[in-house]
Amino acid sequence: MHIAQALAQAHDLGVDRLDAQLLLAHVLQQSRAWLIAHDEYRLGDTERQVYLSALDRRRAGEPLAYLIGEREFYGLLLEVGPDVLVPRPETEGLVDWALECLANGPRNAPTPGVVDLGTGSGAIALAVARHAPQAAVAATDASAAALAVARRNAARHGLAVEWLHGDWWAPLAGRQFFLAVANPPYVAGGDPHLLTLRHEPRGALTPGGDGLAALRRIIDGAPPHLLPGAWLLLEHGLDQAVAVQALMRRRGFSAAVTRADLAGLPRCTGAAWPPQS
Ligand code: GLN
Repeated sequence: MHIAQALAQAHDLGVDRLDAQLLLAHVLQQSRAWLIAHDEYRLGDTERQVYLSALDRRRAGEPLAYLIGEREFYGLLLEVGPDVLVPRPETEGLVDWALECLANGPRNAPTPGVVDLGTGSGAIALAVARHAPQAAVAATDASAAALAVARRNAARHGLAVEWLHGDWWAPLAGRQFFLAVANPPYVAGGDPHLLTLRHEPRGALTPGGDGLAALRRIIDGAPPHLLPGAWLLLEHGLDQAVAVQALMRRRGFSAAVTRADLAGLPRCTGAAWPPQS
């Protein structure tokens, strides 16, 4: 089987051409550019078998990122696997916002503390650490397996993040931050969308019910951990902005702001602590 035939086979199976090229490039340990220039390369038996089984798994809905073991997020190539949610492009907007908050202050703290709650692969924490080297970044996750992935990602990029094992704020008793960010599970328990996401850790996608339980816990637990003027920035579902704003307001935050994602849909809501008087 030549490369051209391998890609034709993917097409017949209904696998996206770019996905097939990335899978094949991964199997052959070559770049996509190399593939394109070597149509006539003949796959060895093992290469062919590994490629065909990857095509089958892709066809069955496994994320491409799991099959090739990595995904780029905010310019960082990150290890990902079934223990962590695949970082999504819309979450890069949360990082943009976090970096804006850090660029605007705090005036009198040279090393602002930042925390990423439920960090998974470490994507948000590592992107912030890379682009705001002045910040002291901590990150929590209830999954030890996820933290192991996050630690390897930090080592891979030579970035320093303090990784803490536990639910949301639990490992942070007595500590206060200038900025807290989270992309918690927010898909509603009955959302049919979950069927297409069945390869990713369920606990990273949905808290069950209306999808607001984790957001509620983060908002309710936030005030003791936020310095005056600190920001809390949260990613949420497209129909949750009003609910998240209301939860923040009820907990005593100042006017909450919602930002749209790349598709123009309401995706992140943030507010400062304490209320401005
Ligand atoms: N944005 C993801 C999706 O709907 C969900 C991520 C999350 O629950 N934090 O595919």
